Amino acid sequence: MQSAVREPVTAWVALGANLGDARQAVWQAFEALGRLPGTQLMARSRLYRSAPHLAQGPDFVNAVARLETRLSAPDLLDALQALETRAGRERPYVNAPRTLDLDLILFGQSRIDSPRLQVPHPRWRERAFVLLPLADLWPDCVSADDWAGVANQQIEVWPEDGP
Ligand code: AMP
Repeated sequence: MQSAVREPVTAWVALGANLGDARQAVWQAFEALGRLPGTQLMARSRLYRSAPHLAQGPDFVNAVARLETRLSAPDLLDALQALETRAGRERPYVNAPRTLDLDLILFGQSRIDSPRLQVPHPRWRERAFVLLPLADLWPDCVSADDWAGVANQQIEVWPEDGP
């Protein structure tokens, strides 16, 4: 009998960085996401520059990636956290500047509410730095109310695209 093979799921990951060479960190993260086991990078948004929102330090580089993955959501979160650690991420305090932040925004139709993983990410609709890059890839996902809710957040497309 064949063992069951998990069907691929579409997962949306928000990337952010505001320490060191943040643009390079985001580009490397795109590549690393595509190399995760059972995972393909299907699309990436443009890069954005945003002022820190409830956080500190220099401006952020932000982007969104669409993955197809056979990993489970908890395994994908483990993999995202391993990539953050590999990028030199430290967590000295909440919302500290970070070399790389990877948030799992959506995982297929899944709704997860465990102590270490909430999906959909509970705050993604409140963040222009998620909505704008997400809308590059999936415009219908963002409603007029969503746009109105983030209208006062400073964000722009990063002038150059590419590493
Ligand atoms: P942060 O320090 O902002 O990267 O937050 C990471 C913490 O949020 C970790 O403790 C994760 O377990 C938790 N978390 C809960 N839901 C999510 C999610 N959807 N994506 C990423 N981290 C999550």
